[in-house]
Amino acid sequence: MRKCIWCNKESEQIKEITVLTKNRFGVNQQERNYFVCPEHEEKFRKFNDQVRRYALLFICLVAISLLGLIGAACWTGNNSYPAAYLFIASFALVGLVAIIFPFATPETIEMMGVAKSIKVVRIIGGVIFALGATLFVLALLYG
Ligand SMILES: [Zn+2]
Repeated sequence: MRKCIWCNKESEQIKEITVLTKNRFGVNQQERNYFVCPEHEEKFRKFNDQVRRYALLFICLVAISLLGLIGAACWTGNNSYPAAYLFIASFALVGLVAIIFPFATPETIEMMGVAKSIKVVRIIGGVIFALGATLFVLALLYG
């Protein structure tokens, strides 16, 4: 029996649909077939449209936050405050991006379904963002 890409459950009513997707790097638009149960087709199509529309922005934001983290780690100035704030801001940005664009890797989606992958990514993003925000407040208070 086929598994639904959205809820990851097996069902006899699952149908095959074709949607436009991009690869994990946000490029190469192509058609792909997915199996989905009828009640989740609409949700999956909406999610897929969102991923297609924001994939490049998502990747840019992740790249910016990674550059920020690397920049903070490589900081060689005498004053370490800018590096600390850059690190905290970049860290919090990773969490924020994950909350706004809860896009998991294709492997994760394959494993747990879209619905669960969104929840997991949002929870991890929320924890990272909360940690970043706490660090930021602490830095302001005691920095
Ligand atoms: Zn389903």
